[in-house]
Amino acid sequence: MRKTRIAAASAGIAIAALALTACNSGAPGGSDTGSADGSADGTWFEVAEDVSLADSPTYDAMVARGGVIIGVKEDQPGLGYLDAATSERTGFDIDIARWIAASLGFGEEDIEYVAIPSANREQAIVNGDIDYYVGTYSITDSRKDQIDFAGPYFITGQGLLVAADSDITGDEDLTSDVLVCSATGSTPIQNIRDNYDADTTEFDTYSQCVEQLRSGQVDAVTTDEAILIGYAAQYPDELKVVGEPFSVEEYGVGLPKGDDALRTYINDLFEDGGDIWQAIFDANLGASGTVVEQPAVDRY
Ligand code: GLU
Repeated sequence: MRKTRIAAASAGIAIAALALTACNSGAPGGSDTGSADGSADGTWFEVAEDVSLADSPTYDAMVARGGVIIGVKEDQPGLGYLDAATSERTGFDIDIARWIAASLGFGEEDIEYVAIPSANREQAIVNGDIDYYVGTYSITDSRKDQIDFAGPYFITGQGLLVAADSDITGDEDLTSDVLVCSATGSTPIQNIRDNYDADTTEFDTYSQCVEQLRSGQVDAVTTDEAILIGYAAQYPDELKVVGEPFSVEEYGVGLPKGDDALRTYINDLFEDGGDIWQAIFDANLGASGTVVEQPAVDRY
């Protein structure tokens, strides 16, 4: 049953959400200045001409096809978002995906994006439906049984999104009378099931959970804070992010298992491209005011 509780908003989160709202007022699609402008079409990534990448079956397939197929999210503002009106894709993950493609010799016109929900990512990679996946994809040991990851390229943590008038203030309030929504096959829903008393309900996407929250069907949405901040910015009067992060989520690029050449290539790109990483962060997430460092890659 839904509980309604009253609480003061967390000042820090409110400011972060406000800043992102300001950023999003001109976006998705970016502002009219500098790199954010280019992030709507990938034109600010220099497309490599003399690519040398041996022993990568995935890259060989891209070359044979004359294009790259990338798995993404398209309902996560600030990270992976498709503007239905303009057909523009924007977000931190989308630009990371474009950067990798450009480094492999593929411009925006050579990219086919495929939206794949959390639960279907490993299978899409195993099946060869996509060349790589960039979409809030946490590196985990169980996923590594089926696929490989380059990165990490970003670190965030699990958070809670609640109604503006909710008195849920953090994960300590996830008691048995609270109903929490998350995505099927995600690390956050597993964490709630394993470690909390709250009830869970699940959907393919987080935007479906946000609609459940807005219509009062659930008490909270849980997933990575980076994702939740984007939704809070969409509905600043209705929704708020509360509490401290209660997990560590390291985002990787999902790759076919055993394509070590491609994994090394992308890890080298991340390691050598700190300035580009920073520009991508600033263009997409920088306005939230949160200082986030590029993580060191893990060449496991
Ligand atoms: N990063 C978490 C995961 O990979 C949650 C976000 C998502 O589902 O994409 O499961």
